Amino acid sequence: MRLYDTLARELKELRPLDGTTYRFYCCGPTVYGPAHIGNFRTFVLQDVFRRTLETGGMRTFHVRNITDVDDKTIRDSQAAGKSLEDFTAFWTERFHADCDALGLLAPHVEPGAIEHIPQQIAMIETLIRKGHAYASDDGSVYFKISSFPGYGKLSHLDERELDLGKTQNARANADEYEKDSLSDFVLWKARKPEDGVNFWPSPWGEGRPGWHLECSAMIREYLGADFDLHSGGVDLVFPHHENEIAQSQCACGGHFAAHWFHVTHLLVDGGKMSKSVGNLYTLEDLAAKGFTAMEVRYVLIGAHYRKPLNFTLESLAAAREAMAKLAKGARALAAKAPADARFDTVEFGFFQAAWDSLNDDLNTPGCLGGLFTGLREAAKLEGEEAAKALAAFNRILRALGLTLPEEEPEAEVPAEIRALAEERWAARSAKDWAKADNMRQQLVELGWNMKDGKEGYELTPLS
Ligand code: AMP
Ligand code: ZN
Repeated sequence: MRLYDTLARELKELRPLDGTTYRFYCCGPTVYGPAHIGNFRTFVLQDVFRRTLETGGMRTFHVRNITDVDDKTIRDSQAAGKSLEDFTAFWTERFHADCDALGLLAPHVEPGAIEHIPQQIAMIETLIRKGHAYASDDGSVYFKISSFPGYGKLSHLDERELDLGKTQNARANADEYEKDSLSDFVLWKARKPEDGVNFWPSPWGEGRPGWHLECSAMIREYLGADFDLHSGGVDLVFPHHENEIAQSQCACGGHFAAHWFHVTHLLVDGGKMSKSVGNLYTLEDLAAKGFTAMEVRYVLIGAHYRKPLNFTLESLAAAREAMAKLAKGARALAAKAPADARFDTVEFGFFQAAWDSLNDDLNTPGCLGGLFTGLREAAKLEGEEAAKALAAFNRILRALGLTLPEEEPEAEVPAEIRALAEERWAARSAKDWAKADNMRQQLVELGWNMKDGKEGYELTPLS
């Protein structure tokens, strides 16, 4: 598989450093509310990435953290009147439920920051000892970015005309800061009154770790100084990933990640999602509008990960139709495939182009297109050949993590329409033709067609 590397700025072939298992890290969710579909664009693409490697026969080791201690979780747990642990456990559970609905494979390890405070403190001690960090008067500890000549390579600071030499005395104490500011960033935040009870003892006094540090500490614990790939949404390139590289390379030696995979942001109606505009969608919001998580997944993989994806409700309706079409094609193949077909071929046949797309920089829209073309071509196959084509099709579906609807979705019939239909059916059974005709007209006026069969009736909406 070839994938674009943000650092090298080119497509690179993926080969595990240890020759057997592809070991990678994804920055996980900040659990202070439900994740939105933008977050899920990134998590779903990371999932397709992993599934593609595994479908191709590679073993993987996937680590994704839970950010449960930062400015936002502390602020909102207090507003909710809950302990940080209870508050973040609640939102972690909700995150897991959403992940399940979307068909995301659980990471092999999912460490939380609160549980790894000692590892974070140990890392700060190493950084101070090696001259890369310093304690300030307020009891906070900062990383000195001028001590690390490699700072800025990932986000290409040189091209943004930001000068490492000008960072003397510039410090950022907040977990998140602007793209255009360059400053020493915080590793340990001294306790403040607004932190409430959320502080831990350390050699520099009571406080808590800064956000950037947690990923470096988890990676050191579960992946070591060198590993295959690191990933997140593009907003994390600077400063978060830049800071992770600095902390980890300075504390552990090693190269840190060999490859950087970033997913471009999802936009809604052409702009940034925002609560105030009312277009920040969660899975729950979309379920209330009648859309399933699988339909959301289809939309999220419908665009290439390096291009912005403009999300609309119409695209969800289109996803429903597209999935019904794929399911119909697969059922047609299944009907022709002998139930006892046995073969151990790994050939993709008419679905080779779909598979190649996935392996060429994770081209998910190309892969979906290849599934439709493959089904059209495979429609002429019979017997064992149809069974093989179906197996290839299903293999790619698993790589995409898609589950198709079993049967074409039936239109939901409102209770009052159902009641009228029952009444009409009774009239018809009693040979009261005038009433039956009358009621058929009544149903048509309400937008429903009632088709009579021998055993029963079928209701379809008039469009
Ligand atoms: P957070 O919970 O804010 O830490 O974000 C979790 C993941 O979602 C990170 O990898 C972010 O980069 C990513 N992310 C946030 N907003 C978007 C968006 N609109 N589109 C795609 N990914 C996003
Ligand atoms: Zn991270």
